[in-house]
Amino acid sequence: ARVLKHFPGEDLLVVVSAMGKTTNALERVVWDRRAGKAVKDQVDALRQGHLKILHEVVPGFEEAEVWLLEYFDELEELLGGTPTNDPDQDYDRIVSYGELWSTQIVSAYLSEELEVCSWMDARDLVRTDAMHRAARVDWDASADLVKECFSSGEGQEPVRFPVVTQGFIGATEDGITTTLGREGSDFSAAIFAYLLDAESVTIWKDVPGLFHADPNRFPDTKLLSHISYREAIELSYFGASVIHPRTLQPL
Ligand code: ASP
Ligand code: MG
Repeated sequence: ARVLKHFPGEDLLVVVSAMGKTTNALERVVWDRRAGKAVKDQVDALRQGHLKILHEVVPGFEEAEVWLLEYFDELEELLGGTPTNDPDQDYDRIVSYGELWSTQIVSAYLSEELEVCSWMDARDLVRTDAMHRAARVDWDASADLVKECFSSGEGQEPVRFPVVTQGFIGATEDGITTTLGREGSDFSAAIFAYLLDAESVTIWKDVPGLFHADPNRFPDTKLLSHISYREAIELSYFGASVIHPRTLQPL
């Protein structure tokens, strides 16, 4: 919220990943379920963790709690059903809840802090093929979807910014949830930037920017003030984990 307050009146799209180790926890749910183990306690722990944070950041925002809990119910219903015969499809449908939960919390918080904030389901915007766990973007179809959602045509309510949406997830033409590969949220931001013809993308990390070497491993690293796309791709290709080569491609 503090960051967004620096950009009043600007049309910002905020792409959010799952909280902390949620995606890893959901992966465990996927594996355990497949192994026939009970996963109820794991889901309960995730629900408690998310509710705790929601209550901390927006105490008394009851609607937000209802929306968040609806997604937990949806997941439990899914887990109670029989697995499909495509384990990767099941993986995507389960693991994607991390981003759905986190964006519910973030948008509830931002709507209190900034008075206005919209939430969009990235699955209505990012159309992919059915290569589950590594879905490929259908750029033309996604461009149409994004245009439709963000245009303020006749009879359409204008979009109220900032808009919060999920990284990492998309959907097939049939509306089946897909994921873009682990650590895919930055890639999502780049996809949206390309589709919306954004002026810029800012990726918020635990480091202040790109360094010429890994600052966690070398004492004398320099923060780079500029870098060409080509050099950034090279840096990421050779292991700079701060940015993934696929993120740079749409940019
Ligand atoms: N939550 C997803 C993951 O952990 C996407 C991301 O973090 O970028 O892989
Ligand atoms: Mg993550």
